[in-house]
Amino acid sequence: MTKQEFLIACEESFSKNGIFEYATPENLENFYNLTIFMLETNKKMNLTALRDENSVISRHITDCLLAAKHLPKGKIKVLDVGSGGGMPCLPFAIVRPDIEITALDATAKKTAYIAAAAEHLGLKNVHILTGRAEELGANPKHREMFDVVCARAVAELRVLMEWCIPFLKKDGIFLSLKGKNAETELTNAANAVKKLSCSLILNEKQELIESEESEISERHNFVFKKAKNTDKLYPRRNAQIMKNPL
Ligand code: SAM
Repeated sequence: MTKQEFLIACEESFSKNGIFEYATPENLENFYNLTIFMLETNKKMNLTALRDENSVISRHITDCLLAAKHLPKGKIKVLDVGSGGGMPCLPFAIVRPDIEITALDATAKKTAYIAAAAEHLGLKNVHILTGRAEELGANPKHREMFDVVCARAVAELRVLMEWCIPFLKKDGIFLSLKGKNAETELTNAANAVKKLSCSLILNEKQELIESEESEISERHNFVFKKAKNTDKLYPRRNAQIMKNPL
C-alpha cells in the first residue's frame, strides 16, 4: 500500500465510522507513521496479530478512536492499563495532544516499543510505566493519581476493574473498551462495581464497520465513575483476584 492509498483508506474508515473529525492532515500523517512503525517492529517482536495496513486502520486505530469522544475535555491525566502495542494509548495521544497519557504494561519490551513509537512520531504527551497493574495500583506513587483509566482487550471486566479503579482519583472515570461478550461481563461485574464504589454512567453499543462493508463487529464502551477513594483492601494479590474475582 502506498502512503497515498493509506491516507485515503484511513479517511474512508473514519468517515464510515462517524469519526471523520479525526482525519486532519497531521493526524493522518501520524497514523501512517505509526502503522508503518508498528508493522515493521512486529516482524521482530509480537505486538499484534494484524499483518496489513487496512487491518491496523480499522481494527486498531478506528476501533480505539470510537471511544476517544469519552475522554473529558482539558489537560487530564490518563492511564492505559495493558497497553500492549500501544492501543488505545497512541491513537488517543495523537488526537488529544492536550492530555498526558501513560501506557502501563507488565512486559518491558512492550512499554519500550511504546516509548520508541512515541519518540518516532514526536509525541511529547506519552509516558510509560512497566509492571503489573495490581502491584502498581497499591503503590502510593500511582494510586488515585489519574483522571481517567482506560483498557482494551486486557481481562474480564470484574478482574480489570480491581486492577484499574485504584489508580483513579475520586470522581475519575474508567473507560472500558469491550467486544461482543461485554454485556455478560457487565452482569458478572455487578459486585466489583459496588465493592469498588463505582457507578456505570454510560453503556454504549457500537458497530465497527471494517474495510469490507460486510464486516461489522460489535463494540461496547462502558464508562464508570468512581464515587470515593478505593478501600485499602483492593487490589488484592493477583492469585486471589483470579481465584476469587469480585
Ligand atoms: N490493549 C492492547 C490492545 O488492545 O491491543 C493490548 C492487549 S493485549 C491482548 C493485553 C496486554 O495486557 C498484554 O500486553 C499484557 O502484557 C498486558 N497485561 C495483562 N495483564 C496485565 C497486568 N496484570 N498488568 C499489566 N499488564 C498486563
